[in-house]
Amino acid sequence: MWTEYVDQDLPLTLGHENAGTVVETGEEVDVVSEGDPVICHPVQTCGTCRPCRLGETMYCENQSFNGLTTDGGFADYMLTSERSVISLPDGVEPIDIAPHADAGITAYHAVKKAVAELNPGDHTVVIGIGGLGHIGVQCLDAMSAATITAVDLKDSALDLAEQFGADHSVNPGDDDVREFVDSVTDGTGAAQVLDFVGADVTTEYAPDITAADGDHHIIGYGGHIHEPAQTLVNGEFSFVGNIVGRFSELQELVALVERGDVELHTTRYDLADVNTVAEKFEHGEIEGRAVITP
Ligand SMILES: [Zn+2]
Repeated sequence: MWTEYVDQDLPLTLGHENAGTVVETGEEVDVVSEGDPVICHPVQTCGTCRPCRLGETMYCENQSFNGLTTDGGFADYMLTSERSVISLPDGVEPIDIAPHADAGITAYHAVKKAVAELNPGDHTVVIGIGGLGHIGVQCLDAMSAATITAVDLKDSALDLAEQFGADHSVNPGDDDVREFVDSVTDGTGAAQVLDFVGADVTTEYAPDITAADGDHHIIGYGGHIHEPAQTLVNGEFSFVGNIVGRFSELQELVALVERGDVELHTTRYDLADVNTVAEKFEHGEIEGRAVITP
């Protein structure tokens, strides 16, 4: 699904959310040494292009991306760059934090943008409490004083959201999401909506649940946005795209993890079972995030 967007030399080893222990370093590496536990930002950057100078890691003009344009971490060893690793704080194990390398910072990146626009008393809606959404709820809870409503088709996911800081939850299988958001926001709508699903059915909520001047953040993808231009003019809301967070945002997320503000809901599997896990994932049978260990 990515061949149209990036240069890929297939086949390559998948796996872009990686953490592990440094086994060997190049001669000029000095930020880490053998034996250090690290988390790996998926993008290896050049450090000298203008986006790199601006700290916009994801826009690096000379980047390689583990599991997408270069070999990833579904393997015993992975090659990365000194510029892409962050040493883990004491007490945080690679296995506990690996999914933050992409799922976590993607959720964090979107939440940070949303939080900049949220005032105490505002409402947020988080759609999809899966691998990214359950991190998003915790980041929102830690970083804002807004009221959080979680939306998911699974009651178990909604229970998880409430445990992680959601104030309200609604299952579209049982209740009308538009009416629910209308009732909890006294008709004003949510100032910020974080759509971790990005299906046609969820982007269609935007005109009815997003407050005037608000944002409907697209983080999940697969669907389309079909809205008459007039709907955006009338509601004066925006659709906002979100890519993976930058290197500095991964440092910030590691800080939240160290504070105990964000925990991951994971299940662990052996590398030999990776294909079975991929199948389970495709069928929505994984709650939170699956972690593969070699
Ligand atoms: Zn660069």
